[in-house]
Parts: sequence; structure tokens; C-alpha cells
Amino acid sequence: MNVLIKLAMTAYITHSDCLLHDMGPYHPENPQRLKAIAQQLEATGLIEKLRCYESPLATDTQLMRVHPLDYIASIREVSPQKGLAYLDPDTAMNPHSLNAALRAAGGVILATDLVVGQKANRAFCAVRPPGHHAESTYAMGFCIFNNIAVGVAHALATHGLQRIAILDFDVHHGNGTEAIFGGNQKVLFCSTFQHPFYPHSGAKTRHSNCISVPLPAASGGDAFRQAVAAHWLSAVESFKPEMIFISAGFDAHREDDMANLMLDDVDYVWITQQITAWAEQYANGRIVSVLEGGYALNALGRCVVQHIKVLCE
Ligand SMILES: [Zn+2]
Repeated sequence: MNVLIKLAMTAYITHSDCLLHDMGPYHPENPQRLKAIAQQLEATGLIEKLRCYESPLATDTQLMRVHPLDYIASIREVSPQKGLAYLDPDTAMNPHSLNAALRAAGGVILATDLVVGQKANRAFCAVRPPGHHAESTYAMGFCIFNNIAVGVAHALATHGLQRIAILDFDVHHGNGTEAIFGGNQKVLFCSTFQHPFYPHSGAKTRHSNCISVPLPAASGGDAFRQAVAAHWLSAVESFKPEMIFISAGFDAHREDDMANLMLDDVDYVWITQQITAWAEQYANGRIVSVLEGGYALNALGRCVVQHIKVLCE
């Protein structure tokens, strides 16, 4: 009975608009990703144990904590009536992308409100476009708005939190998140990423609140776990976050052609267990997890299910 009550306390946030953002038939960041997650959630029955919510549209006020108004206006202006409009060589908008991007950021806002308001103790945002490469004034790397940064800024501004940790295990460095929060002592940003690799940032961070752990190609799960234990653990212990946000990218998986870090399903279970233990110890259990990368559809669906299962425990 207890287990059921706890399972019901995890929120799952998504929106059908996020399926309409489509950057062309050969683009790896495509609507099939969210469908693969939904399919596995159904197939395993896990969806029955989650409280499902639709992402609202983020407002300009919410976005403006991270992105200046003229950037937001430029995204609205570029948004095409038909066809694709490119923001960078990898990142395009179709007529539905603007709403998808607003839903993606709005989903993290809702997740934050649910978790801080104790309507859920954990939340997972199955949203796209992803966000951690988006800097305050430019889109890049499939990202338009920095969804997790918008959520963290909302938690700081409206819920009065003083210490928030962002833990990013996507295979790419979250350059946008670092650029936005580098030097902000209310935020601890810990990341692991393949290096040297896109976006070629992060290895030499100059900010004491950013704990960057570059890993060479083919590192594998043992090296990943050792890096987290050696670098993230002490940073989280001394920071004592009041809430944890996860940039949950699954593109370091060995089945994912995007990169070559060679993690397995069990490594995603392990990192989620570490993070939930830290959340229990310091953050009253509060976790908001936000989908970033992950392009091998089967592995993505499997690993998101296992990630959410651990969040439910
Ligand atoms: Zn990535």
C-alpha cells in the first residue's frame, strides 16, 4: 500500500504539441523519441502509477528570467508559417516548434510548482525540444529555450529557494546551463560529458559553482561512476541543495550512435539511485528531472522507464 502511495507521488509531464516539432525526416531529435518513451511506459504499466499532467505554455515573464525579451521576440519572429526556419545548422523550427518550445519550458515550470508545492515529490518532464545547449541569447544543438534553467530560475524567484543543484548526465556538455548559471552561488551545476566532443566547452570551467567532469570516448560505466563519486559527491555534500534538477540525457548509452561514452541501462539506474539518495538526504526528496538527449529509441525508452522507476521508489 505504501509503495502505491509513493508511486502516485511522481508526476509525468508532457504535451502533444511536443510531438509536432519536427526538424525533418533524417533528424535524430525527432517526435519518435517521445513516442518511444510513451510506448515503454505503457508496455511496462508504469504509466498507471504516475500522475500525468499536460505542460502549460511558458510565459514571457517566466522565460525572461533566463532569456532577454528581444531573444524571445526573435524566436517568435523566425517561427515559420510553413517549412523549416534554421536557427543554427542543427536546430530548426517548423510551424509547431514555437509552441513545443514554450510547452517544454512550461513543463519544467509546472514540475517545479508541483514538487515545491508537495503535490508530487518527484517529476519527470518528457518534453522536446531539449534545452541544455540553449544560451540566454542563442539557440543551438537542437535547443531553443533552456528549459531546465527556466525551471531553476522560477524556483529561485518564486519559491524562495536558496540552493539548487542541477545534475547533468547527458553525453554533451550543457554549455547553455553553465553560461546561464556560471558564478551564481545559488546554483551548483555538476556535469559529466564526453570530451573532446560537441559543443567543445566545459573542460576548463572558470566558475567554482560548475563541477565539470570531461570523460574520454569509450570511458564506459565504471569510469563514469568513479567520476561521479570523485567529483559530484563532495560538491553536492558541501552545497546541501534544497532541490535537485536533473538534465536527463540518455545519449551516453552504448546503443546511441550520437556519441561513444558506452554507458549501459544499469548505469542510468545507478546514477538515478545516487541522485535520489542525495535528494532524500538534503533536499526533502525533491527532484525535477528533464529530458535532454537520447536518440537510440529502444534504449531511450528503456532507460527513461528505469530512471522513472527509481524516482518512484
Ligand atoms: Zn546530448
